[in-house]
Amino acid sequence: MLNRRKFLELSAFTGSLLSLNKKSWARASAANKPIVISTWDFGKDANTEAWKILGAGGKALDAVEAGVKIPEADPKNQSVGYGGLPDRDGRVTLDACIMDHLGNCGSVMCLEHIMHPISVARLVMEKTPHVVLVGDGALQFALAEGFEKINLLTPESEKVWKEWLKTSKYEPKINIENQLYDKKPTSYLDASQVYDLAGGPNNHDTIGMVAMDANGNLSGACTTSGMAFKMHGRVGDSPIIGAGLYVDNEVGAATSTGVGEEVIRCVGSHLVVELMRQGYSPENACRKAVERIVKRNPEKAKTLQVGFLALNKKGEYGAYAIQKGFTYAVKSSSEEKIIPGKSMV
Ligand code: ASP
Repeated sequence: MLNRRKFLELSAFTGSLLSLNKKSWARASAANKPIVISTWDFGKDANTEAWKILGAGGKALDAVEAGVKIPEADPKNQSVGYGGLPDRDGRVTLDACIMDHLGNCGSVMCLEHIMHPISVARLVMEKTPHVVLVGDGALQFALAEGFEKINLLTPESEKVWKEWLKTSKYEPKINIENQLYDKKPTSYLDASQVYDLAGGPNNHDTIGMVAMDANGNLSGACTTSGMAFKMHGRVGDSPIIGAGLYVDNEVGAATSTGVGEEVIRCVGSHLVVELMRQGYSPENACRKAVERIVKRNPEKAKTLQVGFLALNKKGEYGAYAIQKGFTYAVKSSSEEKIIPGKSMV
């Protein structure tokens, strides 16, 4: 039987346990969640779609898949999905990957004829014993899963490719905003002026999206048509787990955009997450990763763009790029905006 003293001791102990629990609950609930962030201005519409799921208490994994499907299906977006600029042979080849809070991941590389490579990547994760499927194998799998076979090359992108064929010079451009910054810093230009001044289309970009849901779980998705006029079969960082995207549910998530070869060399997104694990803020982790790329070859870095974007478990986010012009979009219950990423230059 409990005597009075034992009872009092026990209730004091339970009381302190309860208040401890309350404190850690308060700490956990103080995190800024749900939240979604994604690369470039076009991330804003993608975030809006993702928010329909996150805001209703849905899973981060479902949100990031739904979110990036918006630019994938947008023919006006010439660097992601349908309407993406083709490789030098005129073929639109898509790269995508997805990762959840349990470390599950799936990826497709050099996939043709499918509107939503991100959904194929998700099925690689969920229905196969593998992580990556490439080329014909990825297409075969997508068709077997019921995806429709379509022509991804729009007349607009075909026209740009035919224009490019006149010189056939593989010359990745630093994003347009930065290209034009010195020439005309004060006004916004329309698409044809951009084309003329930059000497060609904005020939690469990616949507990378990472999100934390109301339960505090993180997921990410990354999808692109890659570098315009690349060699057929070229794969960039975007579908490579650790390079274009990485999620660690204990620490945070990161994604990248820019010249994929540079991101692969430093396993960029994994590096950013590991830096956050060491205590760096999302922005400083992204900055450190950018510095790593620049340090390896400072001269070359002047000619290219790479940007990283990261989110930690507290819901803090940040970004950093080599060049000016990188933007990212944020959506949570308290904010919705496009933010110019900080940069080295
Ligand atoms: N990272 C993409 C690639 O290398 C392109 C980009 O995001 O600009 O394919």
